[in-house]
Amino acid sequence: MAPEACLAELSARGVSYRRLEELRGVEVPLEVTGKLGGVEFWTDGGRRLEMDCRLALALDRLGFVFRRHGVTRVRYSGAYVYKRTASGRLSHHAHGLAIDVHAVTLGSGAEEVTDDYVRGVGCGAGGSPLNALTCDLSATAVFDELLTPDYDGAHYDHVHLSIPRR
Ligand SMILES: [Zn+2]
Repeated sequence: MAPEACLAELSARGVSYRRLEELRGVEVPLEVTGKLGGVEFWTDGGRRLEMDCRLALALDRLGFVFRRHGVTRVRYSGAYVYKRTASGRLSHHAHGLAIDVHAVTLGSGAEEVTDDYVRGVGCGAGGSPLNALTCDLSATAVFDELLTPDYDGAHYDHVHLSIPRR
């Protein structure tokens, strides 16, 4: 998708954002300043919601999945972060194509990945609303990485979502 086409669709969908001049590693950098898919993305770390246009568009399009689970708010720690993975490769975060989700707010209250994600059951019986949400997000096949606490110890407190590089 061409940069201008992505920005045009984001605007047409009513997403509030601010175009950023330059962000190392990111093709079409922007700061999201409003909801995505009707869901409020927030953080207590003061980090701005910076990402590539394609991730913003993907999350906005997936709003219906979050809303189907009654999710009104999503707490993240970081989206754009210029860093490498353990193997030394640039992370999807460095391209603005990933976001780390730590908690969601839905009808029954806040669901924290640390406390409420049930490990070892995947999409089977005995899961929590967080398990159900991640399973539905996974089923959309939008993300090339959807790493939960079941993946490894580093993901004990968050779910990593990323869309494919080009
Ligand atoms: Zn991550």
